[in-house]
Amino acid sequence: METGGTLPPAASLSQVDIAPDTKDWTWVLERTCQDCGLDSQAVPGRVVADILRSAAIAWQGVLGRPEVRTRPDSSTWSPLEYGCHVRDVCQRFDARMSLMLTRDNPDFENWDQDATALAQRYGEQDPAVVAMELDDTARTFAMHLDAVTGDQWLRTGRRADGATFTVDSFARYFIHDVVHHLHDVGSDFDPGRAMGWGPPGRSTNRSE
Ligand SMILES: [Zn+2]
Repeated sequence: METGGTLPPAASLSQVDIAPDTKDWTWVLERTCQDCGLDSQAVPGRVVADILRSAAIAWQGVLGRPEVRTRPDSSTWSPLEYGCHVRDVCQRFDARMSLMLTRDNPDFENWDQDATALAQRYGEQDPAVVAMELDDTARTFAMHLDAVTGDQWLRTGRRADGATFTVDSFARYFIHDVVHHLHDVGSDFDPGRAMGWGPPGRSTNRSE
């Protein structure tokens, strides 16, 4: 069906459904993501808050782009839609971490990310409002991550598909999502710099 002539006009692209992302992304906890370059095993949970605050600033730039509503192609979200998603991911993961810290091995409610995008009409939201909301939810979650100490990092929670996380792996899994979507929208965000590692290739500690 890749005839090229049947695509809807750009203005109506936001009305077209995008194929749901059904991949299980937990592999990012075990190996480096070749797309965004993040090696989440090298990210201690305690620095996730710092990366999140830096990433939230990068998202402000993305959401201020003139072409923020434009999908690069008919099967990829626009930067605005990705921004809405990341805002909601921050909120959802914050709530889940709160459950992990207050209950023993809680089950997470299922969250259909793609259904949420359609139901909340991500593509029609106001980019300036989304930028403010993303900044707010990211800072709030970062503050809660800052407050995690000691054995709290080892507390557990379980996703509907049976995947079990500790607060530590949950935080590292989460930050990959935020960083990966910056890669998706073409940002040059460097998580290593946010962690104080300096620009890629300039580190003297990690190359030995
Ligand atoms: Zn990635």
